[in-house]
Amino acid sequence: MTNTAGKPVIAIHGGAGTISKASLTPEADAAARAGLRNALEAGYAVLAGGGTALDAVTAAVVELESHPSFNSGYGAAFNQGGSHELDAAIMDGQTSLAGAVAGAKRIKHPILAARALAQQADPLLLIGEAADTWAQERGLEVVENSFFSTDSRRELLERMLERQRQGTAAQATEQEKHGTVGAVALDAHGHLAAATSTGGYTAKPVGRVGDSPIIGAGTWADDRTCAVSGTGKGELFIRTALAHSIHARMLYAGQTLAQAAQAQIDETGRLGGGGAGLCAVDRHGNVALPYDTEGMYRGWMNADGVYVAIHEE
Ligand code: ASP
Repeated sequence: MTNTAGKPVIAIHGGAGTISKASLTPEADAAARAGLRNALEAGYAVLAGGGTALDAVTAAVVELESHPSFNSGYGAAFNQGGSHELDAAIMDGQTSLAGAVAGAKRIKHPILAARALAQQADPLLLIGEAADTWAQERGLEVVENSFFSTDSRRELLERMLERQRQGTAAQATEQEKHGTVGAVALDAHGHLAAATSTGGYTAKPVGRVGDSPIIGAGTWADDRTCAVSGTGKGELFIRTALAHSIHARMLYAGQTLAQAAQAQIDETGRLGGGGAGLCAVDRHGNVALPYDTEGMYRGWMNADGVYVAIHEE
């Protein structure tokens, strides 16, 4: 929990699926940290210029989607069928408008499609080919599905498929299992926003949709309380309505952001766990970045400075 009270702030995660500290090479460590910093700077530049939280989280997530270290956009995880199905969502805490895509295959920046959907009340969530077509018709950039592929994600797919054959999938490392990117922000006008984008988990069944595009599960923002973006075992986040529950604990039970966020991480543990983390900011500018995995790519930035971390540090 970081007290950044009263000032515009952006906080991000690059997924709870970090490489174990022992096997993270200095190059991979530096690349991930640079990616986090770029995203924070892109988001914070919007806030510092008097821009909206919605624009700030969009800018940060576009950066993260462009970076191969993180499981979203370019560098997204492969599904069991060897292709990429991308989920993303965004929510505006001022208006409660939200937009999301699930199972998109060709939208270069899924968060931009979610953002465009959030400019209208209906439809909120589009899936698969329809999402791709809708984005293309609105002038968003579309690419071949192979654009998102990287060698390291293909290696993870091979490893996961082998585990599935051997029946050892449950013992997969955090890096094999997880990854997502997200951003939350409080702007100078007192408004909150949250954005999340993911390739889901490696070797997920074709057609599987996680928590990220489900408003209230992996993504939530409400000016009265907080903005939340989650990363981890999506099925548990859906079953516990993770992001909305943090808001509800604050609004109805008077909990602080830190209490509410930790309680919902614990709640996923009660259902068996599987790895959970999130970034959140409240209406006062307090930031929470809890996780129960070995690490989580994460950071925040405000007028006082920038903080970036991967493991416990
Ligand atoms: N929450 C994502 C999903 O279930 C994956 C992750 O963050 O690890 O799709």
